[in-house]
Amino acid sequence: MTGTLGRRPLRRAFVIILNSGISGLDPVRARSVMGANRFFLMSAAVCLPWVVAIAVAHPPQTLVPALTHLAMVCGWVVCVDLNRRRHYVVASVIGLAMPIIQFAYLSSVFSTEAGFPLPLLTVGALAFVMFPPLQWRVAATITAIAALVLVRMYIAADFEVPDVEVSDGWLTGASVGNVIVVVMIVSVLALFNNHYFVRERRRNDELLAEAQVAARIDALTEVYNRRGITPVLSEALRSGEYALALADLDRFKRINDRLGHGAGDVVLSNVARTLVDAVGSRGSVARWGGEEFLVVLPGMSLSAAVAVMEDARRAMEYEYGDDAFLEPVTISVGVAHARQHAGKEETLRLADAKLYEAKESGRNRVLGASVATPALD
Ligand code: GH3
Ligand code: MG
Ligand code: MG
Repeated sequence: MTGTLGRRPLRRAFVIILNSGISGLDPVRARSVMGANRFFLMSAAVCLPWVVAIAVAHPPQTLVPALTHLAMVCGWVVCVDLNRRRHYVVASVIGLAMPIIQFAYLSSVFSTEAGFPLPLLTVGALAFVMFPPLQWRVAATITAIAALVLVRMYIAADFEVPDVEVSDGWLTGASVGNVIVVVMIVSVLALFNNHYFVRERRRNDELLAEAQVAARIDALTEVYNRRGITPVLSEALRSGEYALALADLDRFKRINDRLGHGAGDVVLSNVARTLVDAVGSRGSVARWGGEEFLVVLPGMSLSAAVAVMEDARRAMEYEYGDDAFLEPVTISVGVAHARQHAGKEETLRLADAKLYEAKESGRNRVLGASVATPALD
């Protein structure tokens, strides 16, 4: 418990530094600024013990290299501040140039045997993390410079012998330390990248699933829209016998006129819920247009389909047909029954014709018919 509490301020500081300067940036740029901040922080932490190790290697000659190393650590802290002030490119160029110069300098002081050229192997990967894709040329240039410096260190004779007399033990320790540092930097980089990749992919999957639902569902009534009901309709057509019902609210315009469009929306959404409850598992409901709903009733005879829609009409009448406060709300329904031979257009046309008849004959009623079976030759 104490340990967790103890770690929290550190974690908070880490997050604050990581997020320096990212507010208002698009995700791609924010990721590169966070990558840069992470590098500055991680490098400062890793290089601080080296200041001491270098200082004690062979004092007082190693005091200057130790101080330049300390200056580089301070430089990285300044880079975080530069990012905070939104000088992103300057911060990243300085942040990468400093180790190229400093590690070349340390290699000339201690020779390549001390392993100081090794951290330069990470510059390429870091440069591409720290710059957004648009600035890949800057990243490529810095990588090329680091590679040239690295090659120069290995082919030039003046990097072979130490300038100061340090012990063999110190040289071996330094080269082991540098290998550890490089492995750490590369692993942490890979870990973070993997973490963000996994997180982003999960977020994209969630967004895609939400978008797929939104594309099939009507936002106001929360029943299927036309796109959403299409596969249900195709499935019903394959079920041999099926019925389609078109239900239209009676005199709905009056409700809008008297109570306003907002209240009309509320009524529409309540009516959709009542329709869904009344139809239940026997069929699927979609908003076909304005205040008109399509009910798909697979594997159903005409009488069964009319009975389902009669249940719905009665439920509507019961709920909203005699409201002293609101306008009464009822529905008229046209039901068309068909066998597999009939296409959905033909069946829908018949349902529409029956709906028209229901309206004409006084509203608040259900009328149905079957699509005629084609005559055999
Ligand atoms: P009928 O009994 O002949 O169907 O009469 P009606 O008034 O229901 O039919 P009409 O076609 O004249 O008017 C339909 C009304 O439905 C007009 C339109 O403003 C309203 N409407 C359509 N979609 C929406 C919606 O999403 N929200 C609201 N509030 N009203 C809608
Ligand atoms: Mg209407
Ligand atoms: Mg209508």
